[in-house]
Amino acid sequence: MKLLLHCCCAPCSAAILEWLSEQNIRPTLFFYNPNIYPEEEYQRRKDELKRYAQSLHLEYIDGDYRHDLWRQAIQGLEDEPERGARCSKCFKLRLEATARLAAERGFTHIATTLASSRWKNLEQINQAGHRAVATYPELVFWDKNWRKDGLSERRRILLQLNGFYNQNYCGCEFSFR
Ligand code: SF4
Repeated sequence: MKLLLHCCCAPCSAAILEWLSEQNIRPTLFFYNPNIYPEEEYQRRKDELKRYAQSLHLEYIDGDYRHDLWRQAIQGLEDEPERGARCSKCFKLRLEATARLAAERGFTHIATTLASSRWKNLEQINQAGHRAVATYPELVFWDKNWRKDGLSERRRILLQLNGFYNQNYCGCEFSFR
């Protein structure tokens, strides 16, 4: 397996990376989250993940931060609740970019740490992931449930052990509320 792992932040990634390491899988991390607002918050989450990837000697790829394009893409969905249509669109954008990059660089699988958060709708994420790879016959979206196998508990422990910055909102300006 050659895995490109879309990562949303360090707290959501740590337990998954530990589990993957136990399975002898060394993923490449892809930070592509133009949904995050404001930019200082984006930078903070990105720096934390980058530092963590370096400490584990894992390859890390930095995606673009074009929040203006993200806003255009979700236009008309600003008032949607979390887990609604705006989030479906947001997952779609991020996972399509992941699939595109994975196909370009010869990865066999993609997965996302978004799926580890109990605040998110797993079905929405899996649907976006499977659709994202649909045009790349060689690419698989790995829809493992990252909340099982004790990973949720491990997430909590690693968060404390590493002293990660733990944000209290999903990412976009509409999730402040
Ligand atoms: S609430 Fe989270 S998943 Fe939904 S649109 Fe905002 S950043 Fe994306």
